[in-house]
Amino acid sequence: MPAPTHFTFNPIGIVHSCYKEKFGIPRQPGLVTESTASIELLPPFNRLDTLDGLEDFSHIWVQFVFHATMKENWKAKVRPPRLGGKEKMGVFATRATHRPNPIGLSVIKLGKIHQQKSKIFIELLGADLLDGTPVLDIKPYIPYADSIPNAQGGFAPLPDNTTQVVFSSLAKTQCDQYQSLHKRDIQTLIKQVIEQDPRPSYLQQKEGKEHGIILWDLNIRWRAHPEYFEVLHIEPTQ
Ligand code: SAM
Repeated sequence: MPAPTHFTFNPIGIVHSCYKEKFGIPRQPGLVTESTASIELLPPFNRLDTLDGLEDFSHIWVQFVFHATMKENWKAKVRPPRLGGKEKMGVFATRATHRPNPIGLSVIKLGKIHQQKSKIFIELLGADLLDGTPVLDIKPYIPYADSIPNAQGGFAPLPDNTTQVVFSSLAKTQCDQYQSLHKRDIQTLIKQVIEQDPRPSYLQQKEGKEHGIILWDLNIRWRAHPEYFEVLHIEPTQ
């Protein structure tokens, strides 16, 4: 039987995430452990029996659509941020968001599964997903098959360099206030996000420039100094 040449997949869920825009999202899952997100199962998949047994796994594979960039063109060769934007690699040798089929794949630590009326949520810890991301599939991570301890990491070995992040006294006070109101460790989240240096390579030359990152309902204002990053202040987005 000839295989079909076009496929239609319906999202089984949608992501709710602390990342409200692309800038600041870590380049892979697990790097920002303080980030929290959830997948809300969409009808007709919002049934607890679809998840029976999943709670015994510590991690899941999440297949999703790069919905925020899917209308933009893909290129055969791309500049991975890990190479400082200086070298090009084949699109299929990278995890670039702009690809012929805009599908992403992340292995993510599983949190609690809970139900609120007819809605079912799967909590995710350390995700690299934008708020509103459509989810195509969820599968358990199976260590004996999925973990290959001696695998080669090509041009993307484990990142080992993080930059020190300091908070101004104003930013520190604002974080403390937010933390006591919302019961979220916003200061650790901000630190983990910024220490990865989320700036694209063309902005990394511009020291002293002020940047903004939206996390939850906050705009985090920060600046890159030669040796460290400084969180200046935080302000509500609305
Ligand atoms: N772990 C996934 C993979 O390997 O397929 C994603 C890797 S991709 C390099 C990570 C980046 O995808 C993030 O830094 C963020 O900017 C971007 N991203 C996350 N969710 C997205 C979405 N729904 N649409 C477009 N870009 C998204």
